[in-house]
Amino acid sequence: MATFTPRTPSKNAVFNRKTVRQPMPVNAQGRNLKVSQFFGENVFQLKDNRNFSPSTQEEVKKILNGEKILTKVVAKEIADVVLDWALDKGATHFCHWFQPLTGSTAEKHDSFLTYDGDRAIEKLSASQLIQGEPDASSFPNGGTRSTFEARGYTSWDLTSPIFIKEGINGKTLCIPTAFISYHGNALDVKTPLLRSLTTLNKYATEFAHLTGFKDVKRVIATCGYEQEYFLIDKSFYFQREDLVMSGRTLLGSLTTRNQQLEDHYFGTIPERVLAFMQDLETELYRVGIPAKTRHNEVAPGQFEIAPIFRDANTATDNNQLLMAILKSTAERHDFVCLFHEKPFAGINGSGKHLNWSMADDQENNFLEPGNTPHENHRFLAMVSIVCEALKRHSVALRAAIASNSNDHRLGANEAPPSIISAFLGDTITSILEKLASGEAYTPEEAAILDTGAEQLAQLLKDNTDRNRTSPFAFTGNKFEFRAVGSNANIGVPLAILNTAVADVLKDSNEYLKEQMANGVDTPSALTALTKKWYANSRQVVFNGDGYSQEWLEEAAKRGLPNLKTTVDALTTFIKKENHEFLVKYGVYKETELQTLYNVWLERYNKHRDIEFRTQKKMIDRYVIPAALRYKRELATLIESAKAFGSAPGCEKTIYDTIEQLTNEVKDQSDTLVQELNKLEAKPETDAAVEISTVLLSRCEKVAELAGAIEDIVPDSIWEIPTYYDLLFVR
Ligand code: ADP
Ligand code: MG
Repeated sequence: MATFTPRTPSKNAVFNRKTVRQPMPVNAQGRNLKVSQFFGENVFQLKDNRNFSPSTQEEVKKILNGEKILTKVVAKEIADVVLDWALDKGATHFCHWFQPLTGSTAEKHDSFLTYDGDRAIEKLSASQLIQGEPDASSFPNGGTRSTFEARGYTSWDLTSPIFIKEGINGKTLCIPTAFISYHGNALDVKTPLLRSLTTLNKYATEFAHLTGFKDVKRVIATCGYEQEYFLIDKSFYFQREDLVMSGRTLLGSLTTRNQQLEDHYFGTIPERVLAFMQDLETELYRVGIPAKTRHNEVAPGQFEIAPIFRDANTATDNNQLLMAILKSTAERHDFVCLFHEKPFAGINGSGKHLNWSMADDQENNFLEPGNTPHENHRFLAMVSIVCEALKRHSVALRAAIASNSNDHRLGANEAPPSIISAFLGDTITSILEKLASGEAYTPEEAAILDTGAEQLAQLLKDNTDRNRTSPFAFTGNKFEFRAVGSNANIGVPLAILNTAVADVLKDSNEYLKEQMANGVDTPSALTALTKKWYANSRQVVFNGDGYSQEWLEEAAKRGLPNLKTTVDALTTFIKKENHEFLVKYGVYKETELQTLYNVWLERYNKHRDIEFRTQKKMIDRYVIPAALRYKRELATLIESAKAFGSAPGCEKTIYDTIEQLTNEVKDQSDTLVQELNKLEAKPETDAAVEISTVLLSRCEKVAELAGAIEDIVPDSIWEIPTYYDLLFVR
């Protein structure tokens, strides 16, 4: 029997956990339904809904294609059908579901209940469907409004599906909406994203027409995200004030074995976790989220889920919903799901790889190389356009993924550095290089991998390897923006990426028109365009090891910005030259960008404030008391050694170490909070600079000292769950 420690009850609770069973949905005969039989059952079908009159069905189609706007009459009919559907599903309430600048989603519920005379009835009016009026003053607004100017509107986004969220004791109809101020300014993530999609559609469709695809009606951005997360047992979680308050551990000593054996990635999924994942997937399928892959990630306790890609707007809403469902399902299984990018120091953090491409209404992927990429002029032009977009707008793209939490991950030798570069792989790079220098490219034969074991199926080698160290990697038929944080709302990087590409597409279209007016044929015009962009932007292409010191030096030589922290990224982004393209295309108004800047900076400061104060509390209430208790024990031993006339042994060395560490940790953490208090009088930007350059490293110093104390204090008096408990006890 191990020694009883203050953490024993929690450990026992974890040992005794029963795997939670959640049967799959069944039919009337009790047989399991196929996923396709219940997929999307809680999603309202707007397109081709047979319950609409034929004329409304037609109208809806046109509205969804952007050819018409919604009229009150049509809205009334839709509202009636939505209400019937929702009541039939057992919903009692509805809410406008939106994404304010808090980083999460917001919802205000209203019941369908109303009076018709003195009779109780259920009702959803056209205006309740299309417009809401939440009090905007309690949402982040970056100081653009005073609290007395409280009016804000939510407005139904027809392009994202309405769905039903199930609680244990009831169901709510959720209507995806944008959130806008009284003066029409975006106060959310969705509005700029929708504007960016309109912009991209405009220039990408024109590009398609110019390059021979005359029938293309519409181009969308496609997005598939890979969501990483940690699972921690609930009973430990609530004893870690730092995890609860800030989402990450602010102290903790690394276990001897963590991820160095590389045995967790793709390892057998633990039973309790698999049960959770299966339950989760059922929930996701029901709300129409096409969950596809599930696996263990690199760090112990870390996992990933990735759905099938879809249009960027739906993918963004889906991702917000998926995160909420991940959290609630985890709780049902006595886990807590962590989305922080770096919950544990010393082991890998979590990201959210954004796979991105463009597709037309016939589902042709703009980044599909085909079997002979060197002859695929349009594809090569598209790749060069993306490279040019990355080069022109790297600051904005860097800012789009900035957050206090992602700062711990970027450049931490597990995630790409904060330098925005593109990995294209050997084949495509060499095609582009040859093109740029005017040489002919000879393709290599499709290689068959020699495994040396004839029992195995023959493997065809891909024409690019993978590169985990690149922030923006071409992965076969799409780009993967790997630097995005696990906690982020992907709508922000998507909006900026779409606009950056649209900006280069616009110039490309003008160039193509000019060439063609001079009688140049389409393939030659595309080749000339590819050369032009590639020659101008090849410095962003880097296929080597993005974690290496050499790359940092090389990138500096190439003149690529390296905005290491959120504060660097934001203060650079807010300079006009780095964001004016967003204003030019109407994706953000200048005032909205100021709002965003203020909100982001304020959020950075507030998060750090919470972290530093929480850390101090933990030092004062747990770390120092444990250290002093041990010190007292050692003192007794030293005293008794003396009483016996013998010289004290290692108890004295430990005593001295403890004394020194305790004094130092107390001193450092007190200083940290004093420094923090002094910042209150300073402007937000100055405070942020001070925090990121001075205070954060002090916080890390405090964590290091606390870890050293944890390493020597006996387990029997250590109260805070350790990394060992959090990551290994199941
Ligand atoms: P990996 O871990 O190998 O990068 P995953 O299968 O985990 O790949 O995730 C790849 C993601 O990319 C999936 O969400 C997939 O649907 C998405 N994806 C595939 N094709 C496209 C595309 N054309 N546009 C956007 N996303 C795509
Ligand atoms: Mg993956």
